[in-house]
Amino acid sequence: MPRRSRKKARVELNIADHRHCEVCGKVIPPGEKYCSPKCEEKAAKERQSMERLRKVWIAMIIIFIALMIVPYLFQMLGG
Ligand SMILES: [Zn+2]
Repeated sequence: MPRRSRKKARVELNIADHRHCEVCGKVIPPGEKYCSPKCEEKAAKERQSMERLRKVWIAMIIIFIALMIVPYLFQMLGG
């Protein structure tokens, strides 16, 4: 019996130690990020589009702030 319980504990440790593919959610060994190069490629593409979206957002926020500030600047300059 002690042998069996030791084996079970090891299995539980493995379950606690595993990771999931960030793209499809498949179980992968610890240290790995994706289950296949295909998923890695997909994740890279997603990250690129996310970064592009973030840049667009930052640009929009900067334009918005500029639009808010510019009238104030003109008021200050105009007295
Ligand atoms: Zn995957």
